[in-house]
Amino acid sequence: MSAADWIVLKFGGTSVSTRARWSTIGELAQARLNDGHCVLIVVSAVSGVTDQLKGLIEAEAEHRAALAEQLIARHRAFAVELGLQASVVEPVEQALHALLKSPHAAVRAYPWQAEIFALGELWSSRLGAAFLTAEGVTAGWLDARTQLSAQALPNQGAWARHLSTSCQVQPSPAIAQQLREAGSLQITQGFIARNLSGETVLLGRGGSDTSAACFGALLGAQRVEIWTDVPGMFSANPRRVPEARLLRHLDYDEAQEIATTGAKVLHPRCLGPVRDGAVPLWIKDTQRPELEGTCIDAGGGNGPLSVKAISHRMGVTLVSMESIGMWQQVGFLADVFGYFRQHGLSVDLIGSAETNVTVSLDPSENLLSADNLEALCADLARVCRVKVIGPCAAITLVGRGMRRMLHRLSEVLAEFGEQRVHLVSQSSNNLNLTFVVDEDIAEALLPRLHEHLIRARVMAVDDARLFGPSWESLSQAPVATAARWWERDQARLLEIAASQGPAYVYDLASVRAQAQRLLAISPVDRWFYAIKANDHPALLQALAALGFGLECVSTAELAWVQQHCPELPGSRILFTPNFAPRLEYRQALASGVMVTVDGLHPLQHWGAEFEGAQIALRVDLGPGRGHHDKVRTGGQASKFGLAPADLERARLLAADAGAKIVGLHAHLGSGILDPQHWAEVYAQLAALGERFVDLRWLDIGGGLGVPGSGERELDLAQVAAGLARVKQLYPHWDLHMEPGRYLVADAGVLLARVTQVKDKHGVRFVGIEAGMNALLRPALYDAVHPIVNLSRLGQPATDTVTVVGPICESGDVLGRERRMPAAAEGDVILIAQAGAYGAVMGNRYNRRPLIAEVVL
Ligand code: PLP
Repeated sequence: MSAADWIVLKFGGTSVSTRARWSTIGELAQARLNDGHCVLIVVSAVSGVTDQLKGLIEAEAEHRAALAEQLIARHRAFAVELGLQASVVEPVEQALHALLKSPHAAVRAYPWQAEIFALGELWSSRLGAAFLTAEGVTAGWLDARTQLSAQALPNQGAWARHLSTSCQVQPSPAIAQQLREAGSLQITQGFIARNLSGETVLLGRGGSDTSAACFGALLGAQRVEIWTDVPGMFSANPRRVPEARLLRHLDYDEAQEIATTGAKVLHPRCLGPVRDGAVPLWIKDTQRPELEGTCIDAGGGNGPLSVKAISHRMGVTLVSMESIGMWQQVGFLADVFGYFRQHGLSVDLIGSAETNVTVSLDPSENLLSADNLEALCADLARVCRVKVIGPCAAITLVGRGMRRMLHRLSEVLAEFGEQRVHLVSQSSNNLNLTFVVDEDIAEALLPRLHEHLIRARVMAVDDARLFGPSWESLSQAPVATAARWWERDQARLLEIAASQGPAYVYDLASVRAQAQRLLAISPVDRWFYAIKANDHPALLQALAALGFGLECVSTAELAWVQQHCPELPGSRILFTPNFAPRLEYRQALASGVMVTVDGLHPLQHWGAEFEGAQIALRVDLGPGRGHHDKVRTGGQASKFGLAPADLERARLLAADAGAKIVGLHAHLGSGILDPQHWAEVYAQLAALGERFVDLRWLDIGGGLGVPGSGERELDLAQVAAGLARVKQLYPHWDLHMEPGRYLVADAGVLLARVTQVKDKHGVRFVGIEAGMNALLRPALYDAVHPIVNLSRLGQPATDTVTVVGPICESGDVLGRERRMPAAAEGDVILIAQAGAYGAVMGNRYNRRPLIAEVVL
């Protein structure tokens, strides 16, 4: 077998975080082995672990042991989920313990930091090798540091030399042969290498892509496959431009340009090694391996002349330097750039005129702070007049032969003609054309520019060799039709909007259907509905009638439940408060519901309240999960739960108070679509349970996500399978779950009529009767709700609009960049997925009345 038979597969954090994903990795590797290839798998750390390690490095020395225990517990629990002995990860645990004791820990020396960061990849690769081998796909474990060596660059400081360095690799048939002899399937770590002194060094954030590319070049591999959570590179950021098209084939330089100018899917540093080694690189979607992906190789530029992509970078700062006497002044630019070097700032774009030079500073390449900008300006002021312009955005058109396409860009240029353009730059390699504009208009421009490029045929989307399907068509969420019950009820809803004004409307049948889906998950012994999501009495009664208990977080919620569901026994009501006053615990205990304690304070200071009580402890298993920082309820910054290190203390305090601990509880966040999340929480919680002799149940929280546009439905069969595996190990404890959003989000819509339409600075605003007073989620969590014009369902979408409410806040925006038919005053706008955390968060800001609620 020749060295060319190697294939390198790289998997990022989310792709190595669950058993199901590791099974997929095993299948992909096996398929390539069956075809006669050798396979090298390069892995990142399990999702969130690098951030946890960063937290440990930054923590004060006395807190590090507890953080280390969390990491150890997390990987041991993952080992259990993978069906492995915890001893598999012992070498990493020993290394961590030794590093904590190292004399370098006190000063956080860079080589010590690199060793700590490296543990994440060492953990995941050890787990992966053991799992695949146990599954019958024998995998060897390779320490990446034995193969990849980094060399410092001349201008690199100590930080970059240890934590953000790069490798130079030459193809080595000898190493390819040596590795093949060690086994045809090997797993190694991304992100880490060694330096010439043999110390561990890091390849910078996103460094696992670079590791895979370096290994590809070293082994002269047939190809490198980067497995990620999107189906490839696109002609624009699909989150902003859903019509963006898959890029099927690119050359190395174009891909480099797209990655450098904004696309996040690939790390720009990884293209150098594969280009130098002439190794094709593929980007593939781990969740949908059957999709074709993007291929990057030397032949990618051979197609027709075309703009391939429009990318953008936010947070760009411009520095404009004006000097009257600059013309023909020898050394002026040398002086100016000397100051940039002195302040460690790398210049990106440059525009020059007789009396002015303007440059841009890209935040991804610079450590930009108000202080160092100020210091730079003070120095520059010695040789010129300085002006700082920002925040700006750089919008870049990428395509080989850009100068030959200029004459076809008239509509694009006309679009920019209406905006303030601070700088235009055409790259000397003829691959890009960049416009720097004010940051706040950039994202609104992208869909329009993309459309112009297609209309003017500058983007050759009809050429199937280059362009694939749109993001929109690739990501149609399968639940979309079931969740669109309101299409069937259009006439009734229009009537409600006409007679009631703005209103929330709930479809009880949808709530019941979701509830039945959950009740089919057999490992769960008891379901609770988190009433904070939507406490409408009709919904509570419907769910209680199906056997759901109810979860409350205040005594007012308890009283509401007791008023509307008086038959519900205390054993089916769970009280999970956070920082509630003492009186609320007293009242809840007196009413006979189950009470959860999530800090030491209540047990320490109010022990008498808990005498004879049966309680649960809420644990923070950190890090939090979910669709937005503000809904993550675990980890260092979160106010919820007890740190695992405090559990023993809580146990002793409860015993002193005469209380029995019968439950352990964890809820780490909302909007989670990873089906393995709950099995992980279950395994971690169960691992903590043995010391509680009275323990009867484990509650693994809610947080079950509802897919938004482009997201896949939560796979409940996988949720159930993961839970069943853990339950086999802990059959003696009941399993509880407490979702809110999953049950009610799609069941509710918000209806509001159009008040006014306004065109300003190229943006069309559609105003409606209800704003952030009615639905706070877009302002609070950047939540994206589907929005349609219910009066014009089925009409073609001709406008791109920003939907706003009547509240005097610039955050009063319900949706940006929405495509819909032209709206007129009085049309009824429907905001979907508004059944959860909608009406309950409604408020009377600006003295606007609360919104009516109607149940169908
Ligand atoms: N349980 C607890 C303790 C919560 O705090 C929450 C939400 O905040 C939930 C359950 C319900 O979460 P979700 O609506 O995402 O299912």
